[in-house]
Amino acid sequence: MRRVHVVGAGLAGLAAAMRLSERPGTEVVLHEAVNRAGGRAWSFHDARLDRVIDNGNHLVLSGNAEVLAHCARIGTEALLDIAPHAELPFLDLAQGERWRLRLPSGLRDLARGGLRVPPGTALSLAADTLRLLRAGPRATVAQAVPGRGAAWHRVWEPLSLAVLNAPPESAAAAPLAEVLRRTLLRGGAASRPVTMPHGLGATLVDPALALLAGRGVHPAYRQPLTGLATRGGRVTALRFASTEVALGPDDAAILALPPEALAKLLDQPMPGAGQSILNAHFRVAPEVAAAMPPVLGLVSGLSHWVFRRGDVLSVTVSAAESCLNGEADPEARIWREVAQAAGTDAPPLASRLIRARGATADASPAARQARPELRPYANLALAGDWLSGPLPDTLEAALMSGRAAAEALCDG
Ligand SMILES: Cc1cc2nc3c(=O)[nH]c(=O)nc-3n(C[C@H](O)[C@H](O)[C@H](O)COP(=O)(O)OP(=O)(O)OC[C@H]3O[C@@H](n4cnc5c(N)ncnc54)[C@H](O)[C@@H]3O)c2cc1C
Repeated sequence: MRRVHVVGAGLAGLAAAMRLSERPGTEVVLHEAVNRAGGRAWSFHDARLDRVIDNGNHLVLSGNAEVLAHCARIGTEALLDIAPHAELPFLDLAQGERWRLRLPSGLRDLARGGLRVPPGTALSLAADTLRLLRAGPRATVAQAVPGRGAAWHRVWEPLSLAVLNAPPESAAAAPLAEVLRRTLLRGGAASRPVTMPHGLGATLVDPALALLAGRGVHPAYRQPLTGLATRGGRVTALRFASTEVALGPDDAAILALPPEALAKLLDQPMPGAGQSILNAHFRVAPEVAAAMPPVLGLVSGLSHWVFRRGDVLSVTVSAAESCLNGEADPEARIWREVAQAAGTDAPPLASRLIRARGATADASPAARQARPELRPYANLALAGDWLSGPLPDTLEAALMSGRAAAEALCDG
């Protein structure tokens, strides 16, 4: 029996543990620093709203194959709300203009006018996209896309904030290009918005824990890893706050941790934390919620996206350090913007503001190039959304990196 320790029960760690536990003759031991699994993707009952909410809105697209495969493995595909078309409505808060971004689902749909881009962007979008796809690893989005017209304002800036959690002036172009290659450039079938109306916990985390429990894997919570003992290019022991676990000659470990945790454990510099994501959750009257689409993109304001789940409207402000801009009362401003979008004068029934600090790692080209090698020791592999290779820090990247780390160890 070979024992593999997985440290970190975020989605990368869960994916690694699930993959390893499929292998006969492998015992998986899962360790987690806090008292719950899910890492940066979790749900909880909020007393003020009296609703179960996610720590932050998570949007994926139907081309995110790893997310869909994860849900298939844990039996939650039916909990995903996959939009029938690759279409998202937008509102320009300053000009009051509304439009739809839509990709056709095939040639017939294209011929019927199934392609819609924001007003004023048609001429530059194709050329901008080509430039972005050709951008080198050191280029930012702003360096790759030179124009500052409507396409910048209505497509590239919102995409950079949403996908990279960083403004285009500092975010690396390459991961955005990779997302385009895997989703929007593959057409409508790969670009349908996917939301999780039952929440991140019920859709991604709890059934994964149940599957692992069925295979005899039970996370050890409140077990922060504090150090590694190494000899001869191998890890020989894992040091936790209250105990030390020796690794036998066949044993191995996967560290599915954020960069700041890994920097301490490996004693080497890692990419720094990136920006915060602010989420404002508002419980509203059912008729106000009903006036909103499931997901609405906003430009020219503080708010970037509004998600509707039941009678809660949840707003995302990405790259909060850059976008809050000294705003004295973000909650009041965000509500004014939601009220404008929903066409209501009534105040919210209850609200909750959640700021996820360092929601993703530094998204700059330099930080991405400072990522560590994935096998620092013969029996140690690294995983985490920030280590996926080409993708930005997302659910897709976390799941992909967790499975890749497990497979790398299994392959010797
Ligand atoms: C507000 C917000 C909104 C987001 N929106 C989206 C979105 O719309 N779409 C999308 O795809 N992605 C989104 N993301 C990103 C997505 O949540 C992450 O990419 C993903 O959850 C990262 O998973 P992970 O397992 O790599 O890391 P984490 O979730 O950070 O997991 C790491 C785990 O390691 C544990 N840990 C840390 N240190 C130690 C230690 N020393 N010992 C043991 N355990 C330790 C942590 O407690 C944690 O459980 C968002 C993130 C946030 C915060």
